[in-house]
Amino acid sequence: MKFEFMGARGSTPVSGKNINKYGGHTLCACITTHEGEWIIIDAGTGIKKLGDQLESQGKEEPLNLHLLFTHFHLDHIMGIPFFAPLYSPKAILNIYAASNPEDTEKNLSGLMAGRYFPLDFSETPSKKIYTTIPEKEFQIGGAQVSYCPLRHPQGSVSYKIQEEEKQIVFATDTEHPEKGMDERLVAFSRGADILVYDAMFTPEEYKSSRRGWGHSTWLEGTKVAREAGVHKLYLSHFNPDHSDKQIDKYISLARKKFPQTYGAQEGYKITL
Ligand SMILES: [Zn+2]
Ligand SMILES: [Zn+2]
Repeated sequence: MKFEFMGARGSTPVSGKNINKYGGHTLCACITTHEGEWIIIDAGTGIKKLGDQLESQGKEEPLNLHLLFTHFHLDHIMGIPFFAPLYSPKAILNIYAASNPEDTEKNLSGLMAGRYFPLDFSETPSKKIYTTIPEKEFQIGGAQVSYCPLRHPQGSVSYKIQEEEKQIVFATDTEHPEKGMDERLVAFSRGADILVYDAMFTPEEYKSSRRGWGHSTWLEGTKVAREAGVHKLYLSHFNPDHSDKQIDKYISLARKKFPQTYGAQEGYKITL
């Protein structure tokens, strides 16, 4: 399978010369399976570029997309109104979330309701199919998908995508416990090829004033990665106030604890 970060920034999109390396778009990742299924995790502003690419392929057959939502905080859904396939009658959007279908639709459509947007979500021409993610592993094409609840205000989930023994775990919005580690996430990530983890705060920022905000640090990411025995750790959900230079610095610090640490870079593609 192929994996691409379309956006790796948390909270709000940002722009500027000092954030070019890791990018300014909010969370979105895209996986293409061997069978050619499209699996999209979250719809931050990074999803716009992906939507434009999919639309420009101009194929006649239906565009069957699978969108997995970790939760509905704004940074994870704000790209939805600008996702070109939403407006395409040949697009089928299979939408998965931990909530029931009615709530999922409500949470997504609120962004385009009333005076917030010229068109209502329900009036867009694409076909939408809502699924509550099942407790047990489920199948999207040749890939197995499972989830694990995370520690985040109003809840969030981590997704694991597996195809032919290769596994990616995507855990972007989570706060580590006061003591020890999130053992549920450690068990869920066990032996994964890639763990994408929440590195919103530096350990110093976290300790001084960010406890209870629902996010974690590069240091905690290295602990989970080591304990779970993952092969590579990709730090993500970058703080909008952190520059490329700062992110480079904390990746180099993280490598002293867990050598296979990298930063999620917008547009970066991984083949597994
Ligand atoms: Zn977030
Ligand atoms: Zn969140």
